[in-house]
Amino acid sequence: MPEPARATEILPADEHGIARAASLLRAGELVAMPTETVYGLAGDARNADAVARIFAAKGRPAHNPLIVHLARMEDATKIADLPPAATRLAAHFWPGPLTLVAPLRAGHGLAPAVTAGLQTVALRLPAHPLARRLLQAFGGPLAAPSANPSGRISPTTAAHVTAGLSGRIAAVLDGGPCRVGLESSIIGFEGPRAVMLREGGVSREDVEAVLGEALQARDAAQITAPGQLASHYAPRARLRLDVRDPAPDEFWIGFGPDCPGAALSLSESGDLAEAATRLFAVLHEADTRADCIAVAPVPETGLGIAINDRLRRAAAPRGPVKGA
Ligand code: AMP
Ligand code: MG
Repeated sequence: MPEPARATEILPADEHGIARAASLLRAGELVAMPTETVYGLAGDARNADAVARIFAAKGRPAHNPLIVHLARMEDATKIADLPPAATRLAAHFWPGPLTLVAPLRAGHGLAPAVTAGLQTVALRLPAHPLARRLLQAFGGPLAAPSANPSGRISPTTAAHVTAGLSGRIAAVLDGGPCRVGLESSIIGFEGPRAVMLREGGVSREDVEAVLGEALQARDAAQITAPGQLASHYAPRARLRLDVRDPAPDEFWIGFGPDCPGAALSLSESGDLAEAATRLFAVLHEADTRADCIAVAPVPETGLGIAINDRLRRAAAPRGPVKGA
């Protein structure tokens, strides 16, 4: 049953906003919070009703587990048994845009729906100062998927959040645009070996440099990260990729200096970090302005791998199963 519509509060990025957000969360309500990746739809990860509300507000399938956001490293070791490689990655990249999937510990206290009933859990310490202050004020783990309706483009501003979820969540803590702009990279472990489950805000090369070895390729036949289903991040408009020569009716999104006539650019200088930051905002804007979108080629290196992953899924044929 959909919950009745209610006005969504827009909370300021100050003490009052954080205190209000924490008290709503303690009451089992949902609050969208800024993180350095994208806005997350936060709810108390220990409260089964709050977690059920997250799935309902997003229209997210119950088989798609949520990332649990934490304030401190000690919180992670209470919830999960981190393998040594995970501890090394956490020491290097936390707080930051990296999620680690590890076996649950007995007495973890999370609502079972958070992990979709799996015996593993996805954990992250976000770096955004407001997310950290909110986690501290709340004093517990927050389950927080991206704050968008399932299958739609992820939100990198408070306005994106309200465009998708207004009336379905209690509040949005407005922290301005997100710095990284792509979801976290997700790393799982098969025995001692690390596996990249989702490309994201930390590049594969940076992870490999810390591990001192190559990441295992993900076994494509096995969906261990259910959010990896094909159609995801879908705009309303039709999307064509790797376009150097757009058709007259296409809204062309450029990358790099060689895209004269592009309506918008991910990065005019060809900077991949800037393109990542701008990706979802540019897609949101293009989607409101055109029915056909064409995107210039983005190199498949560094953050370009995650950018191309999101673009390919935004362009994929829309299936009935969506996983955002
Ligand atoms: P998001 O949709 O950005 O909230 O990312 C959550 C994603 O994390 C899910 O779609 C899964 O792909 C992944 N994930 C979360 N928990 C687990 C888990 N226990 N095992 C494997 N992947 C997970
Ligand atoms: Mg998502």
